[in-house]
Amino acid sequence: MALQNIGAGNSDDAFYRYKMPKMITKIEGRGNGIKTNVVNMVDIAKALARPASYTTKYFGCELGAQSKFDEKTGTSHVNGAHDTAKLAGLLENFIKKYVQCYGCGNPETEVVITKTQMITLKCAACGFVSDVDMRDKLTSFILKNPPEQKKGSKDKKAMRRAEKERLKEGEAADEEQKKLRKESVKKKGSSASSKDAASKGASTKKMSSISDEDRSPAGSQSDENEAQQQQQRPMMIMMMMIFNGRRTLLWRQLAKEFRNS
Ligand SMILES: [Zn+2]
Repeated sequence: MALQNIGAGNSDDAFYRYKMPKMITKIEGRGNGIKTNVVNMVDIAKALARPASYTTKYFGCELGAQSKFDEKTGTSHVNGAHDTAKLAGLLENFIKKYVQCYGCGNPETEVVITKTQMITLKCAACGFVSDVDMRDKLTSFILKNPPEQKKGSKDKKAMRRAEKERLKEGEAADEEQKKLRKESVKKKGSSASSKDAASKGASTKKMSSISDEDRSPAGSQSDENEAQQQQQRPMMIMMMMIFNGRRTLLWRQLAKEFRNS
């Protein structure tokens, strides 16, 4: 896929990081039914973070032709035969008016519709809010088909909330583990003091889970319990880690799908 920098003014910048696919068009039909298919409109629109319906409609408005973007099939059609250079030029105008920040030229902006039904572009790089010229024909289409920012921000909020909850859960689990550890240390301490025979060597034996046959019967039961606990603990921690990892993975995937949608 051939890429080019977003914004004609940046075309010579080899290190420019905002790129979009080069436009591909195809003339379809003949006679009165002839139309131009912008084959990769969806990919271009994605790179510009604008709905493909906006760019398609913009072509139609500027050319005074019927246009249609089919959401289901992702096909973009403009009535009449138009060459790629002409449409690419129009796309440049669209980018200048509806994508690039009027302040710094960065294409990372968000279309925001104000309470007074004005269209603005909020720049993610410098924070500048650009006022779009509302005399442009496309503005009425955008007002009728606003970008899905409300739903998006709600989803974002929900995701943030969920993340907070997850963090809390994680902290709670950490606390639990700390408590367990503390308790086991206490037990160890008490058992060690109760029987003077328990030397450092014995505790390492416990770690390796060798049954304590050489111990006195009085101490053997508690030792066995301890050994059992010691055996189980790493397994429990491992299971917790696996569980947490799975959950994080799932959330990442969800977030990715959300971004892509
Ligand atoms: Zn800016």
